[in-house]
Amino acid sequence: MSAFLKAIPKVSLHVHLMGSVQARTAVDLCTKHGVALPDFDEPDDLYDYPDIYKFLHMYDNTALGVIDHEDFARICYETLSEAAAHNVRYREMFFNPTTHMAAGASYETCVDGLIDGINAARTDHGIECRLIAAVNRMESPELAVEMVETLLDEPRDEVIGIGMDYAEADFPPERFWKAYAMAEDAGLHLTAHQSEDAPPRNIETCLDLLGCERVDHGYHVIESVPIMTRCRDEGVVFTCTPVSTAWVYFGDDFASHPIRTMKDFGLKIMLDCDDPPMFQTDPTRDYVIAAEHMGFTVEDFRQCMLNGIDGTWLDEPTKRQMRRMWTGEFDALAAQID
Ligand SMILES: [Zn+2]
Repeated sequence: MSAFLKAIPKVSLHVHLMGSVQARTAVDLCTKHGVALPDFDEPDDLYDYPDIYKFLHMYDNTALGVIDHEDFARICYETLSEAAAHNVRYREMFFNPTTHMAAGASYETCVDGLIDGINAARTDHGIECRLIAAVNRMESPELAVEMVETLLDEPRDEVIGIGMDYAEADFPPERFWKAYAMAEDAGLHLTAHQSEDAPPRNIETCLDLLGCERVDHGYHVIESVPIMTRCRDEGVVFTCTPVSTAWVYFGDDFASHPIRTMKDFGLKIMLDCDDPPMFQTDPTRDYVIAAEHMGFTVEDFRQCMLNGIDGTWLDEPTKRQMRRMWTGEFDALAAQID
């Protein structure tokens, strides 16, 4: 089953650039730029933290070591190369412009370095990637507006939407209505992390006020049958990440993770790995956990693949072609395990 889950073609809609930096690379880059790191014996010990706030501190600290064009190109290339090894063919990846700008990198250095990494990964591994500029919801709404202004002043074909991440509980989505309205007016796509650690009404705010086309996480949706029913009827795609969120919210108890209820209710969920090295996971491991602990069958993974394609911001002819080719490939692999 693991080999099958590794081999099936994958879309990736929920991975964060900084969360995907390998520990050894973080050590290299922080050393290069003289950024202090916590004491560690092995680089992997760096990524060991008791709660989400310590995790976010590590995330921001590592960003202080990513400054030059080559640094951005390197971390982007490395995560896409790893993804390609797990048969991820297409990714829409979050990055936080305001985090990097606060660390001393200009937006142009950051985004153009990432684009170089994307181009190199396409050449070497055939993987395609687009970027989602994510609002840090723990910062001010005014900074989010400035971030969108920066995107509009420095447009790049690869940057196709905005998202919203960092800790949710005390930072509700309505604070960012203006940044989202500006992004929507400019033709950017919209998504947001919601109801990961807050009530399900954040999902309705995200859909109705911010105009989001999909929802990242969304686990607390299971607390409201009306909202869950609405999301099912409207075909809202949820990008769910089993490993990173079980650790934070469900005491590593994968079996009681809401993803299973969401799937069984008929919500349109796809699976991804969020911050792979920082949570000791990878694009296949999150699928394996879903198979072993959340009752996912071969047919469920087929549906997840199709949901992922539906959830992308690719044009409809491209999606049609992906559905046709990928289902053929999926079914041939599934026949082998039968
Ligand atoms: Zn996330």
